Amino acid sequence: MIAVNLMTKQLRASLAARRYYERNRDKVNNKVREWRKDNPGGALERGRKWRKENVEKCREYRRGWRKNNPERVLEQARKSMKEWREKNPGLAADRQRERRKANPDKYRRNERLYDLKNKYGITPEEWEITFEAQGRCCAGCKTTIPGKRGWQTDNCHETGAFRAILCQPCNLAIGLLKDSPKILRNLASLLEHTKENQ
Ligand SMILES: [Zn+2]
Repeated sequence: MIAVNLMTKQLRASLAARRYYERNRDKVNNKVREWRKDNPGGALERGRKWRKENVEKCREYRRGWRKNNPERVLEQARKSMKEWREKNPGLAADRQRERRKANPDKYRRNERLYDLKNKYGITPEEWEITFEAQGRCCAGCKTTIPGKRGWQTDNCHETGAFRAILCQPCNLAIGLLKDSPKILRNLASLLEHTKENQ
């Protein structure tokens, strides 16, 4: 009976406090502000104490926040990673080298994904569709042997736009000839002309 009385008393008190706050919001907030000013360490201390006593609540809150702000979480993680790398340049490089050594295939795959997306603006699926449409061979010389470093993803050097998949020699040639159709046509007619005269 005493417990029930106590509960209702507490409940009544908290309801009254809430009602009082709602009616005197500015007054209460000003008072709190003043108290904080007079006790600069006190507010922090109070917060710390509350968090210590409500660990589970805090955890729950953080979990909810992370769930609702995935891009902020990513941004923060990137920022702190960048700061750490800047503070520990040698160590960061060493760690990356170790990770690469431990998972060479994973690194190669990720690098390829990164390149496709950032250099050429395509997905691996789009790359595959293009290669299939080319007949799974070089778009230039039609060879099925890609060369030592694998198939080369060719892009326009001015706009960066993805053009085709080439074997290594074709990709090298196109670059050496400055991506110029005119030079290539001149050279082609030169070759045709010489052949006719032979
Ligand atoms: Zn080729």
